[in-house]
Amino acid sequence: MQIGIDLGGTKIEAIALAKDRLVAPGRRVATPRDYAGTLDAIARLVAEIEAEAAGRGTVGVGIPGVVGRATGLVKNANSVWLNGRPLLADLEARLSRPVRVANDANCFALSEAVDGAGLGHETVFGVILGTGVGGGIAIRSRIHEGPNQIAGEWGHNPLPWMTDEERDAAPECYCGKRGCVETFLSGPGLERDYARVTGVSRSGQDIVRAAADGETGAVRTLERYQDRLARALATVIDVLDPDAVVLGGGMSNLPGLAPAVAAALPAYVFSDTVVTKVVRHAHGDSSGVRGAAWLWNPDPG
Ligand SMILES: [Zn+2]
Repeated sequence: MQIGIDLGGTKIEAIALAKDRLVAPGRRVATPRDYAGTLDAIARLVAEIEAEAAGRGTVGVGIPGVVGRATGLVKNANSVWLNGRPLLADLEARLSRPVRVANDANCFALSEAVDGAGLGHETVFGVILGTGVGGGIAIRSRIHEGPNQIAGEWGHNPLPWMTDEERDAAPECYCGKRGCVETFLSGPGLERDYARVTGVSRSGQDIVRAAADGETGAVRTLERYQDRLARALATVIDVLDPDAVVLGGGMSNLPGLAPAVAAALPAYVFSDTVVTKVVRHAHGDSSGVRGAAWLWNPDPG
């Protein structure tokens, strides 16, 4: 049995998989906003699952941020009470077993590669398009992390082939630079783009609805979004040349996004033919927790 824990900013989810079968129903609890409470909550979820399944499992945990290789301490987590803490060592002590911890975007990529939308593809680039933009890389059903532990983090690369208009409009990013992919392709980025062009502030959902009703400003906003995503992915494809790009996060649910981006790629990728598959995620919100479970033995049988 492989237990997966997704330690999110608002909720902690847990599942147990044996092969690709769910052996205990998924559980979720609100994330305690302190470190000790977070350790307690994870230990409790593991104990409940093992009591129900009457067995012991491996434990993999997906977190925002990473456990630094040199320090053993969490860094870059937006759940800030984790930062600077020896999460891996503390979990191993609490659970009396070795534990594996990985970045949540990497867990997404792994989940989709093992038995999701990237199934059967050797190299999978998993893309998170949400309130932020990130990603992860899975190669032969293993996470490729890299020595800086940032492989797949393309959200703070500059938007490629920026027009003069885009350069003028590019907002400053919280990372300190300007023109980051994230500022265009996040949910807030889409809303900002629509407001800039139309002068009207609307939520992402309202923009999608307006586009479905044929409102020109909304239709054009979604077209710009698709083209920018294709540009940003083209530079990743030129370097990594993944077999499949799997789109995840809330913005991946924009209607027709994956095929529109696939159709736009040949204009930007440095190849006369582009066979890269661009697909929407298969596991949605449960990708993170499934990928965490697969951290031990990524074999769905
Ligand atoms: Zn940035």
